[in-house]
Amino acid sequence: MLDALTDKFNNVFRTLSGRGRISEENIREAMREVRTALLEADVSFKIVKDFTEAVVQKAIGREVIKLLRPGELMVQIVYEELVNLMGPVDTRIYYVQPPPTVIMMAGLQGAGKTTTCGKLAKYLVAKGHHPLLCAADLQRPAAVEQLRTLGAQLGIPVYTDDSKVAPHGEVAKGAAVSVCRAAIAQAKQTGRDVVILDTAGRLHIDDALMGELREVNTQLKPHQVFLVLDAMSGQDAVNSAKAFNEQLEVDGLILTKFDSDTRGGALLSAKMITGKPVKFIGTGEKLDALEEFRPEGMAQRILGMGDILQLVTEAQQKFSQEEAQKLQEKMEQGNFTLDDFMAQMGQVQKLGSMDRIMKMIPGMSQLTKQMNMGDGDVERQMGRMKAIYNSMNKRERKNPDLLDGTRRRRIARGAGVELNEVGQFMKQFEQTRDMMKAVGGMGMAGKMNLMKG
Ligand code: GDP
Repeated sequence: MLDALTDKFNNVFRTLSGRGRISEENIREAMREVRTALLEADVSFKIVKDFTEAVVQKAIGREVIKLLRPGELMVQIVYEELVNLMGPVDTRIYYVQPPPTVIMMAGLQGAGKTTTCGKLAKYLVAKGHHPLLCAADLQRPAAVEQLRTLGAQLGIPVYTDDSKVAPHGEVAKGAAVSVCRAAIAQAKQTGRDVVILDTAGRLHIDDALMGELREVNTQLKPHQVFLVLDAMSGQDAVNSAKAFNEQLEVDGLILTKFDSDTRGGALLSAKMITGKPVKFIGTGEKLDALEEFRPEGMAQRILGMGDILQLVTEAQQKFSQEEAQKLQEKMEQGNFTLDDFMAQMGQVQKLGSMDRIMKMIPGMSQLTKQMNMGDGDVERQMGRMKAIYNSMNKRERKNPDLLDGTRRRRIARGAGVELNEVGQFMKQFEQTRDMMKAVGGMGMAGKMNLMKG
C-alpha cells in the first residue's frame, strides 16, 4: 500500500537529514522531488502545487533553516500537511431514534460496493448493532445473489424482492425505491436498527443510474450516504466521486482495494476535490478488511513512521480480554518468560500477515526492506522461531538463562537452524522482556502516553 510514495518520501528526508544546515533552496529542491512523487502517485496537479507550497511556507515560517537538525522538523511539517489534506474525519455513524438508521451505499460497478456493504454490516454487528442488508441493484441479479451469499456468511438478514429484478430490461420506475422502502419496513418489524441499501451500480455514470439513485435519495432520505470508490483507479475515482456528489448528498467516501498496489492519488485528492472525507478504507477481500480511516495514521504510514494506533485498535478487537489481562499482569510483575513471548507472537499473528503488521510498526517498513525481506519472509522467520522454541525443554523455556553454548547447539540441531539464529532468537526475547519490564513499571498513565506518542 502506497509503498512507492513512502520510498520517495524516505529518500527526500534522508537527503535533508544528511545535511547539517539547509537553505531555502534545499527545501525547494526537496519539495520538487515531493512534487514529482505525488504526481507519480496520481495526485491532481493543483493539489500537489498547493501542498508543496504550504510545506515550503511553513518551513520558512518555522525557521527550519536555522535548526541544526532540520530533517526532523521537515518530516513533521509534511506530516501535518498530509493530515490537513486528508482530514479532519469523523468516522462515527450517527444513529437515529426511532430506528432504523438508513445507510445508502452508492458507487460504480466493480468498485467493491456490495462487498463493502457486507463489511460495514459486520463492522456494525461488532459494535452491537443489528443491521439488515437490502439488495436494491435490481438490474444485476448477480449483485442480488452476491449480497444474499454475504448475508448468509455473516448471519445477517438480507431483504430481496426477486419479482422486481429486471436483468434484461429497464428496471421499472420506482422499483428500487419500493424495494428499499419495504426493507426499511421489515427492519422496523423485525427490530433491526440499521438498514444498509446496496443500490444500483453501472460501469459508467449515466442518467438512468443517477436518476434512480436520486429517487432513492430524495424519497427515502437516507441518514447517511456513503460512496464506494476503487482506490486503484486514482483520479478517475475522484472524478466520478465529484459527479456522484453533485447528485446525492454524500456524507463520506469509502476507498477500497488498499491492499493492492494503489498509488495513493485517490486518497490524497479525494477530500480536496469532493469536499467529502474518506471515512473508511477497504484493505482486502475478506469481510473484516475494513478500517476506520484516520488521516494521522495514514500520514504516518505514508512517511514510513508506522501506525501503532491502528495496531492497538485491532489488537483490542481481536485479542481476548482474558489474554490481554494475563499479559498485563505479567508486565506488571516483570516475569515474562519464553512461553509468554511465544504466546504473544501467536497473538500478534491473529492480526493478519506479519508483513502487514511490520508496516504499521514505526521504522519497520524500512528495516524489512533493508534486510531484503519480501512478502512471506517474515512468516518464514516466525516458523523458524517456533521450531527453536519447540526444540527447548520445559525448564529451558521457563528459565532461558540456562541456555549455555552446549544447550544452544543442541537446540539449533533440533530445530534445523544455524547456531546464530538461536542467539538472535534469545536476543529478541530479551529485548521484548526488557521492554515489557519498562512498560509494566510505568503504570497506566505512562502506558497511555506511550500509545499516544
Ligand atoms: P460492486 O460491483 O461495486 O458491488 O463490487 P463487488 O463488491 O462485487 O467487488 C468487486 C471486486 O472487488 C470483488 O472481486 C471484490 O472481492 C473486490 N474487492 C472489494 N473490496 C476490496 C478490497 O478492499 N480489496 C481487494 N483486494 N478487493 C476488494
